[in-house]
Amino acid sequence: MRVERRWLFADQLGPHFLDAPDQPVLLVESKAVFRRRVFHRQKAHLVLSALRHREAAGDDVRLVRSETYAEALTEPVSVCHPTSRAARAFVQRLDTVEMRPPRGFVTAPGDFVAWADGRKHLRLEDFYRFARRQHDVLMDGDEPAGGHWNYDAENREPPPRGARTLDVPPPPPIREDAIDDEVRADLDRWQHDEGIEFVGNDGPRLFPATRTEALARLRHFVEHRLPAFGPHEDAMLANDPLMAHSLLSAAINLGLLDPREVVDRAEQAYRSGAAPLAGVEGFTRQILGWRDFVWHLYWYFEPRYRTANALDARRALPAWFASLDADAVEARCLSDVLAGVRDRGWVHHIPRLMVLGNYAMQRGWRPGAVADWFHRCFVDGYEWVMTANVIGMSQFADGGRMSTKPYAAGGAYINRMSDYCGGCRYDPKHRTGDDACPYTAGYWSFLARHEDTLEGNHRMRRPLRGLRRLDDLDALVEQEEARGSRAP
Ligand SMILES: Cc1cc2nc3c(=O)[nH]c(=O)nc-3n(C[C@H](O)[C@H](O)[C@H](O)COP(=O)(O)OP(=O)(O)OC[C@H]3O[C@@H](n4cnc5c(N)ncnc54)[C@H](O)[C@@H]3O)c2cc1C
Ligand code: SF4
Repeated sequence: MRVERRWLFADQLGPHFLDAPDQPVLLVESKAVFRRRVFHRQKAHLVLSALRHREAAGDDVRLVRSETYAEALTEPVSVCHPTSRAARAFVQRLDTVEMRPPRGFVTAPGDFVAWADGRKHLRLEDFYRFARRQHDVLMDGDEPAGGHWNYDAENREPPPRGARTLDVPPPPPIREDAIDDEVRADLDRWQHDEGIEFVGNDGPRLFPATRTEALARLRHFVEHRLPAFGPHEDAMLANDPLMAHSLLSAAINLGLLDPREVVDRAEQAYRSGAAPLAGVEGFTRQILGWRDFVWHLYWYFEPRYRTANALDARRALPAWFASLDADAVEARCLSDVLAGVRDRGWVHHIPRLMVLGNYAMQRGWRPGAVADWFHRCFVDGYEWVMTANVIGMSQFADGGRMSTKPYAAGGAYINRMSDYCGGCRYDPKHRTGDDACPYTAGYWSFLARHEDTLEGNHRMRRPLRGLRRLDDLDALVEQEEARGSRAP
């Protein structure tokens, strides 16, 4: 039987997007994508490097360089369901392209819809248990392995007292090759001769661009880092931006790894006694739970969800934030995290949620602009990830359709979960005055601004009671209005 050529989008590069290992492949490298939006330089490098390495790795791979996808499609091809609405609409308009169901996620769209339809609330915990049962992940018969579904209580410890770093080996560095040299030279040329703009610093490639590199990172993580993943999953250390995180998101999102194989490798580590259950459960929850959940929500929620703005946040992103100007920022936590984005295009989950997203929400920046910023500035950023993670979880712009309350927190949270505050010019306990922590003051002014909207939310009752007890609220609100979106 003839197997037709498979068109692979740049986030569908692994073997699980083919019907047979020797299936002919079409890849398209479109420069127009980089003309339209200002991406992080290291993200552009990673995507181009991955595409070109994929070309070099196959026998019958045609890589077409063209301004648009349409120009490249000169023969009938099949394609797996793309990961954005725009790409899907484009594929559906083409007579010569046959679209297959999505791959690259563990759970199927139909199963998600059957699970979600008719539910009043769509909560990760419920979906995650459903997915574990359905796919027999970390299960002992009908029961969760170890008797509990959730080990969050063990996985949310602050950093070890007095530690400057976690005692885990970093992922071995990636060795760049001639393809990376070529990509770097091309990007330099596009930037200098063609006016294509990037944000962030160039630097050695830190993330896998090939299946071999991705498998090596997975192996190293499971063996050396997964055993320490759990307890300090939510903690931050100024001198250890990676902590025990896997740094696998970019490789999974490029399609180089199948999330099911990642989850299976983690489970094997637990079954063989090489990694504790709590950490393995926490890691599995991220991939089988969160990753699949946000993917399905992207399609399940109506298209206008992306423009939701329940808190009526209208301020523009300030230039220092948009351009990743960490040096303009004195607040130690924010400066360090922004520098991480500038220098690596990656920081882990808690800096994204509780330092960057939290600040954006407190300051009232437009959720759509914040989502666009995350998409462009992170090596693992894609349209489908933004909707639930940024619009829903981080900015509460959907009014609570996927989170029970806004992820807003003051300096006390950052102080408990990191070592940033000790070396900061601000004081997390001070809400007014020259050394008032912009997060602490920002938190109270956020609550004051949205008191009416949040009143009916039972999880906000205590914080709102606290707000009403503040005797310096007027001065605080005035101070934060004056601070506005200036670099803190
Ligand atoms: C505001 C905000 C923006 C985010 N933007 C992205 C993004 O652009 N791309 C992205 O892949 N993740 C995003 N995340 C989720 C998460 O922060 C990253 O997946 C994670 O930090 C990547 O690092 P890691 O591979 O070391 O993850 P680990 O901590 O090692 O977790 C393991 C894996 O779980 C998956 N995962 C965990 N949480 C999520 C989640 N909420 N959504 C989707 N996958 C998840 C990733 O594949 C990740 O590799 C975002 C989270 C927030 C709060
Ligand atoms: S004091 Fe405030 S601004 Fe400074 S590091 Fe702590 S939380 Fe961040």
